[in-house]
Amino acid sequence: MQPSINQICKQARSVGFTFSEEKTSCMHFCRLRRPHYDPLLYLEETPIRCPRTIKFLGIIFDSTHTWKQHILSLKQKCMKSLDILKVLSHTKWGAEPKMLLTLYQSLILSRIDYGCVVYGSACKSSLNILNSIHNAALRYCLGAFPTSPVEGLYCEANIPSLEDRRKIRLSNYMTKILALDEHPYNKICMREAENHPPFSRSAFGRYREYLRIREVDPPQLLRLESSEIPPWKCPPPVVNFELAQFKKGEISNTHWQQSFLDIKNRENVDFVINTDGSKTNDGVGCAFATEDKTFSWTLREVTLLWVPSHVGIAGNEKVDNAAQEASSKDVVDVTMVKPSDYQAYLKSIILKEWQQRWQNLNKNLYRIKPLAYGKYLRVELDRTSLTKTHRLRIGHTALTHKHLLTGEDAPLCADCQVRLTVEHIVCDCPRYEPQRHLFNLVRPYGENLKDKQSIANCLNFLKAVNLFNEI
Ligand SMILES: [Zn+2]
Ligand SMILES: [Zn+2]
Repeated sequence: MQPSINQICKQARSVGFTFSEEKTSCMHFCRLRRPHYDPLLYLEETPIRCPRTIKFLGIIFDSTHTWKQHILSLKQKCMKSLDILKVLSHTKWGAEPKMLLTLYQSLILSRIDYGCVVYGSACKSSLNILNSIHNAALRYCLGAFPTSPVEGLYCEANIPSLEDRRKIRLSNYMTKILALDEHPYNKICMREAENHPPFSRSAFGRYREYLRIREVDPPQLLRLESSEIPPWKCPPPVVNFELAQFKKGEISNTHWQQSFLDIKNRENVDFVINTDGSKTNDGVGCAFATEDKTFSWTLREVTLLWVPSHVGIAGNEKVDNAAQEASSKDVVDVTMVKPSDYQAYLKSIILKEWQQRWQNLNKNLYRIKPLAYGKYLRVELDRTSLTKTHRLRIGHTALTHKHLLTGEDAPLCADCQVRLTVEHIVCDCPRYEPQRHLFNLVRPYGENLKDKQSIANCLNFLKAVNLFNEI
């Protein structure tokens, strides 16, 4: 290594550059337990120091590769930003949950996500250090009660757990790298794949292990190549939407055909290629057709024209049939998969697993929001009402779960002597039957907290029975 350093220094000196002695350090990655010396290397006669940790591009590397230092410093930084969320999330005058979630994603989550492909190889206990931030932040944003289960928070906020987020990031990153032949990491991966190591914590190793467990066979990926023409020099595509101004059925097929010919004549088109794609339950297909099937590749200007299907435009009908035929074929013509499609596929697996976990938990919220990863609740209410809504939906409220914090016994309904739950108040307790009738509350319980109207009814009911402030 020393001759290489000398060579680099010599070359730098020949073009008038020198390396800073203070800023140069040598990182000795090693997990050997017995005491041994760091390598002794020199930068122009000065020995290069060997620190235990080093910060490079915002990531702290430690010599044993545990990432503990990085995760701890990340936590410290995020804690400071968490204070901002804490202030803004006051249950009375705080910001809207949607706003706070956006703020959380940009202030904190972006930091946690940065470099997670690299530090994701840390052991589980180290990575779990970050979970407390994620959970606390979601709790602040939603105004959820402190005892709320985390799975409920993820579902209500529509943000997966950090572990799932890391999985998505890793599969996105690795898919991209494996489609890029030029990338240096691609070559390392190829070497690793050939040597079949039994167990590896590298990004590629974790990705492989992940696919192996789920029995996913990676497809042949379409190669990503850098275009020789820079994107800013590419002319923007010209798309003609003239025919989109009519709706199908509004005008006759003859009118459609006439308009198509009008445009064709006006634009002075000398060559038409018809394209179509078809998707049925059996498969997908695509086709393109030309008027006489002879074409040369000297097209200078391409205009895309949107045309409706099944209105008798000659070429369009031809490709439409061809595409439909292709979609029902058993043999697949195109086996290459676009990296972005494969990324989406892997993401869908991760989200499906989340959904499975959510289903098995069968929490209170599951009956209201069966989809773990669905739409965020869209109701316009003030912060207090939204906080109460989230608490009711998750099923943990001050009234029913305060005892977990104070160490008292679980509260019982004074009339019925059963465990006091949100469901009991909203649906079962005979004491509130008249008010329940008044505000049209229904059974099953989940139906009362689903949409704008039902939520408004439920909140009004709680106000009428004087329990609103205790939620
Ligand atoms: Zn060593
Ligand atoms: Zn009761």
